[in-house]
Amino acid sequence: MNILNQVSVRQSRGIDRIVQGIATSDGAGVKLTRVLTGKLQQRLDPFLMLDAFGSDDPDDYIAGFPDHPHRGFETVTYMLSGRMRHRDSAGHEGLLENGGVQWMTAGRGVIHSEIPEQVDGLMEGFQLWLNLPAKNKMMEPWYRDFPSGAIPEYVTPQGVTVRVIAGSSNGVAGAVAREITEPLYLDIHVPAGAEFSTALPASHNAFIYVYRGAVTVGDVPVASQRMGILSNPGNLGNAAGADGVTLSATEEARLILVAGKPLNEPIVQYGPFVMNAQQEINQALSDFRNGHFA
Ligand code: FE
Repeated sequence: MNILNQVSVRQSRGIDRIVQGIATSDGAGVKLTRVLTGKLQQRLDPFLMLDAFGSDDPDDYIAGFPDHPHRGFETVTYMLSGRMRHRDSAGHEGLLENGGVQWMTAGRGVIHSEIPEQVDGLMEGFQLWLNLPAKNKMMEPWYRDFPSGAIPEYVTPQGVTVRVIAGSSNGVAGAVAREITEPLYLDIHVPAGAEFSTALPASHNAFIYVYRGAVTVGDVPVASQRMGILSNPGNLGNAAGADGVTLSATEEARLILVAGKPLNEPIVQYGPFVMNAQQEINQALSDFRNGHFA
């Protein structure tokens, strides 16, 4: 862990929109909040979905996600608290626990399961779906577990702790880098009264999701369990020259910041398959039914 000065941000992006997630369930009945839904896939390209889960009632998570397929994108699971076992048809297996990240590139297809390895206590975290460019949708599956200690972390002079899951922030490179979508994924812990800044490329779509406390971006408050979509430079007069984001915490806050370069390609989703055309979805269904996934 290193203490460093933040790169100054001349002009911060603002908040374009506040989004409240939708309570739903997935897998074998896991209760979760879908924060980034299908309706936001174009606006937040290259991100396809964000689910937030958090419960200390085992009935809400115990059944987990039994065997199911994916094709055409990447899943990033960040476990704040809890233990979950992953197994997939490409032969990967791993235990995801407190503070760890699992990054899975489904590519041409995997069938996997995500099953809790705890019978009580808190399970809390996020699953983010990152799209793959058309030319990589049928790539070989890839998978890696990053235990908490393998996630690069830094602390600012104001005491803000930043975990860099992907991309790079204030000169600190994260656990994962991706060339085409250039994802940035930060978990930020801000003491009450502190301010935090990080640069964001003008081309990137970006959002924050606050999971403890509350923050303010510009003069717009973002409360707990809310997503704040950040304005894009050029889209709004007040963010025309924005080179990053600056936020402050009115009370102690924790949030994730996610940004990425849009693919600007057609998005056709059918459940766990995300391709560029309907014909490719039909092919995915046919390949899955015929046992051609991994
Ligand atoms: Fe899955």
